[in-house]
Amino acid sequence: MPELPEVETIRRQLAPHVEGRTFVSVEISDYRWTQPAAPELIADALTGARVGRLGRRGKYLLWELDRDRHLLVHLRMTGALLVDADVAHPHTRVRIALDDGHWLSYVDPRRFGTGHLLLSTEARDAYLDARLGAEPFTDEFTAAYLREQARGRTAPVKSFVLDQRRIAGVGNIYADEALYRAGVHPLRVAGSLSAAQWRALKASIEAALADGIDAKGASIDDFRHVDGARGSFQDRFLVHTRAGQPCPTCGTEIRKLVVGGRGTYVCERCQPKPRRRSR
Ligand SMILES: [Zn+2]
Repeated sequence: MPELPEVETIRRQLAPHVEGRTFVSVEISDYRWTQPAAPELIADALTGARVGRLGRRGKYLLWELDRDRHLLVHLRMTGALLVDADVAHPHTRVRIALDDGHWLSYVDPRRFGTGHLLLSTEARDAYLDARLGAEPFTDEFTAAYLREQARGRTAPVKSFVLDQRRIAGVGNIYADEALYRAGVHPLRVAGSLSAAQWRALKASIEAALADGIDAKGASIDDFRHVDGARGSFQDRFLVHTRAGQPCPTCGTEIRKLVVGGRGTYVCERCQPKPRRRSR
């Protein structure tokens, strides 16, 4: 599933293709992409729209359109945005012709991705604020913020890190990599981390995300660049998907656990197991 670094990679690649361009024609062939709005309504509204800045918040791509309209695209599990893809590309859900003769395709085998049109900046911000917590790499994202959000929380810290209402944009890959770098076991109770551990985790989350952006994302699944190429961060994983291989720091065999239903990779020497509390 695309996470912050993968969506940021798409944003950077796509921006020069779409900023300042006008949508000449828009075909949406999957009602699920726009629901509850009808796809014909959204296609009509987008036809003739001029694209301003292409932004990102968490895992959402934010398309600023003229007349203070905003298209919010979420790729979910398997969505991809491709420039000049073959018209017969399988699983094409949306096709947009640009005024410079190029084409934009949204393809999505599993069909969980969405495209929502918001009709003012206030509506966009309200939509995002209801769903997303602090954005990494901003002043809002601090160790003190994380500690405050986690206060009294008994969920495992990995589940806390994955909660988009606390931290925007982190998914399964970058949560594992960040917890490993911080030396924090994913099953630690979120509310039990020390101030020093939150500082380490805050720094590790941003370091893992920055490395992911630098590698143009990870392609362990369907994630593809706008030209169909793959990212390379999967070649730099320290623990994620590396069960049975040695920890790069201490050589201990990396274990796979399940935390909150998600496959989770850990070095239990570098990330000490939580002690059982007596009751
Ligand atoms: Zn280790």
